[in-house]
Amino acid sequence: MALDIVKIRNDFPILKQTVHNKPFVYFDNAATTQKPVQVIDRMDKVYRETNSNIHRGVHYLSDLTTRHFEEARETIRKFINARYDHEIIFTSGTTGGINLVAFSFGEKYISRGDEIIISAIEHHANIVPWQMLCERKGASLKVIPLNSDGELLLEEYDRLFSSNTRLVAITHVANSIGTINPVREMIQTAHQKNVPVLIDGTQAVQHGKVDVQDLDADFYVFSGHKMYGPTGTGVIYGKESILEELPPYQTGGEMVDQVTFEKTTFNRLPFKFEAGTPNYTGVIGLAAAVRYIEETGLDEIVAREKELLEYGSRRLSEIDGLHLFGQAENKISILSFILDDIHPFDAGMIIDKYGIAVRTGNHCAQPFMELLGIRGTIRASMVFYNTREEIDRLCEAIEKVKEMFN
Ligand code: PLP
Repeated sequence: MALDIVKIRNDFPILKQTVHNKPFVYFDNAATTQKPVQVIDRMDKVYRETNSNIHRGVHYLSDLTTRHFEEARETIRKFINARYDHEIIFTSGTTGGINLVAFSFGEKYISRGDEIIISAIEHHANIVPWQMLCERKGASLKVIPLNSDGELLLEEYDRLFSSNTRLVAITHVANSIGTINPVREMIQTAHQKNVPVLIDGTQAVQHGKVDVQDLDADFYVFSGHKMYGPTGTGVIYGKESILEELPPYQTGGEMVDQVTFEKTTFNRLPFKFEAGTPNYTGVIGLAAAVRYIEETGLDEIVAREKELLEYGSRRLSEIDGLHLFGQAENKISILSFILDDIHPFDAGMIIDKYGIAVRTGNHCAQPFMELLGIRGTIRASMVFYNTREEIDRLCEAIEKVKEMFN
C-alpha cells in the first residue's frame, strides 16, 4: 500500500517550518535524518517520568528503565534478525563502533605483515580506524577499486586476498553516491578464505531489510541518528563466537565482574563492551525509531524512495551542465552531482537561500573524490518523507544558481 504522505510529514515537526521565508526542504538525510514525534515523545517520557541509571539499582525506576533498555536491545535484535540479544552492543554511533572493533579485534588478531581489505568508496569512519590499526601493528590496507559507475570490481576484490588477510571491512551502502554493494556475495568470498567481515551499515538499515544471519556478517555496525533515532546512539552486531573471544575496548564500571586491585574479571556479553553509563535514553529512543520504521513499513519506504530516485535522476539529468555521479544499478535515493564551472560550496549556499538543505563537499570520502578527480559534489539525499514537488523546487533552485553564475 502507498504511504500516506500527509500523515508522514505531520510526524516530522521540523519539516513544517520555513527557512529564508520558503517552505523548508530537507535533502540532507544521509548526514542525519529528522526525527518523528514518536521518537521525540518517547525520549521526553524517559526524562519526565522514568529517568534513572540502569542495571545497578534495586529501586523501582532503575528497574523500569533497565527493562526498557533491554527491551530496546530485543527490538534491535529482531530488526536485523540477530540470533541473540547479547550480540547487540550499544555504542555512540558507527564511528564509535568501528573504533571499538578496530581496537579490540586488532589487539587480538592483527600483527606485523597482516592485511586488511577495505574499498575505495568508504566513509573516513571505515578507513582511518583501520589505517591507525595498521600503523600500530605494522599491518597494511588493501583497497578494492571501482568502475566508473561507482560499483566495486569484484574480480579485483577476489585477487586482493592473500594468506595474510585478516579482515574485510566494507560499506553496505556508499554515503557519497548511494551504491549498494553486493555484501552478501562479498562475505561469502571472504568466508571461503576464512576471513571475517565487518559491514558498515550506516546508510543501509533505514533503506531496506537487513538480515545479519542471512548476510552471515561477522560484524554489522550502524548509527541511530541516520535512521530517525537520536544522536549519540549506535549498534554493533557481532557474532557471539567472535565477540566472546575479543578483549574489552573501554574499561571501567558496568563492564566488570569482579574487581580487586590485583586483577579484574569482565562481565558477560554484551556488557563487556558497554563500559560506563550507556545512553539509555537514546537507546530507548532508538527502539522507538525502529518501531516507527516497522509501522510505516520498510517495503513501502523502499518503494517510495525508489520512485523518488527515479524521478529525481530523470529531472536532474535534464539540466544542462549538470553531471550526476554514481550510476550503479543498485543504489539508494542519493543524487550526487556537480555543475559545470561552479564550486559545489557556492551552489549549496545559493540553494540554501531557496530554503533547501543539501550537503556539499567530499562527504567524508576524500580518497573516493580523488579517484573521481573532483574536490566534492552537491548531494541531495532523499528519504520517504520527501516529495516530487521538493525535487522540482531543487531543479528550479539549480537553474537559479546557473543563471547567477552565467
Ligand atoms: N559510515 C557511513 C557510510 C556514513 O555515511 C557515516 C556518516 O555519514 C559514517 C560511517 C559515520 O557515522 P557517524 O558519524 O554517525 O559515526
